[in-house]
Amino acid sequence: MTVRVRIAPSPTGNLHVGTARAALFNWLFARQHEGGRFILRVEDTDRERSLPRFEQNIYDGLHALGLQWDEGPDVGGEYGPYRQSERSHLYTQWAEALLATGKAYYSYETDDELEAMREKAKLAGQPFAYRKPSPQILAAQAAEPNRPKSLRFEIPQPYGPVVLDDAVRGAISFDSALLGDFVILKSDGGPTYNFANVVDDSLMAITHVIRGEDHVSNTPRQILLYQAFAQLGSVDGTPCLVTPPVFAHASMILAPDRTKLSKRFGATAVADYIAMGYLPEAFCNFLSLLGWSPPEGQEIGSLQEYAKLFSFERMAQSPAIFETDKLNFLNKHYLKQLSPQEFADVAEPFVKDLPWTEYSAEDKIALLERVREPITLLRELPEALSYFFGPTVAIPQEITESVVNTADGKAVLMAFKVALSANAFDMSSLEAAAASIKAFIPQLAPLKAKAILWPIRAAVSGRTHGADLNAILYYLGPKRVLARVEEALAGKSSPVSVA
Ligand code: GLU
Repeated sequence: MTVRVRIAPSPTGNLHVGTARAALFNWLFARQHEGGRFILRVEDTDRERSLPRFEQNIYDGLHALGLQWDEGPDVGGEYGPYRQSERSHLYTQWAEALLATGKAYYSYETDDELEAMREKAKLAGQPFAYRKPSPQILAAQAAEPNRPKSLRFEIPQPYGPVVLDDAVRGAISFDSALLGDFVILKSDGGPTYNFANVVDDSLMAITHVIRGEDHVSNTPRQILLYQAFAQLGSVDGTPCLVTPPVFAHASMILAPDRTKLSKRFGATAVADYIAMGYLPEAFCNFLSLLGWSPPEGQEIGSLQEYAKLFSFERMAQSPAIFETDKLNFLNKHYLKQLSPQEFADVAEPFVKDLPWTEYSAEDKIALLERVREPITLLRELPEALSYFFGPTVAIPQEITESVVNTADGKAVLMAFKVALSANAFDMSSLEAAAASIKAFIPQLAPLKAKAILWPIRAAVSGRTHGADLNAILYYLGPKRVLARVEEALAGKSSPVSVA
């Protein structure tokens, strides 16, 4: 058997964490199997809410994560078309086959009538389950003009439980009495989600359906459809699945407070995470661990490594928690692994607008190295590097007050200025700058090194922490260092305080 798995996103919004996680699990499973195929099908039956820009965002997000599909609307494949809006003829064909074999029938209630039926059941304390009206009622309704006409799948009565043998959750039994005959073609002729989904998975020969737990409740209706299709075997020479695919429902992803994902936690488009400067490797690693765990707790692993380890047995049943700290930890870890050139490459989109012309290509790589350690997200880079650019630097008022404008601070800066003006402070290389600092400190005894280096650092960089001071001096160069020290001594400070 060739493994064929798919994701079936609806392009009614950007690629979100849940769909990205489903894509990832399906991708891992496909890559684990020799010849396994990972398919992208666009479920765009909701014509009003489906938009090309969302479809594009889904493609872009998956590409950014490195989850390439083998078949899909843009790459084609043997089982196309891969966009539901281009498959209407297939839904009609299979619906007509169900109608012709008595497995489906037309119903004619208006929305108001259906609502009244639901209300009546509620008042009687009964669950509402639509059942086929008598032939007389159906004939009378059919004869009335202007009634809506939708095709329903009939669940023959009595019908035992429908059992979903979930690869993650075990056997789940559904009482078919509660299901009701459900609509497969709406009154506008379009297929419902459950119907189109089963026609497609069936005709695309999908072997495993790996998706979110929110679809568990859809599955009994889908199983009934698979069973009915199996009895048809084929329509117009096109075969369907004879057994339903294996279902594996991944647990819900929740915010740390166990509520639904919100803007604050996780409900952000994948593209936005990448735009913030999460590395795709880190994001994929993080997604892998949302509802799956590697057998020996290897919480750091590449897609290739995890593809070897992935299994339904190790998918969780309890909700997965979206922990930003963990995502941040992983991002820092992956950032650390990069070579200087690789780091410069991933940093480029974030730092390309800085005025690099004053630095050589090697200096650029070296400067990025100087600020790599403290950052969590690549988008922090421009701020982390900012003091390496431009003639002056803004010193926040509180630093001016507490570090620069103190008696010691001023004394240090005056002495430093004198040394600079006399060209007695060599900063022509990193080593020379380090040696100059070392030689300068004893000149200001009894002040301690810290009391000397702080005001200098504050004056030249506008902050009390950052890259090594010798590096700051070397890259800024004597002219700019002197100008910044003079400005600091003149008491210029930025009114904005920096947190
Ligand atoms: N269009 C559905 C969704 O986006 C597909 C569900 C499925 O994988 O069957 O949730």
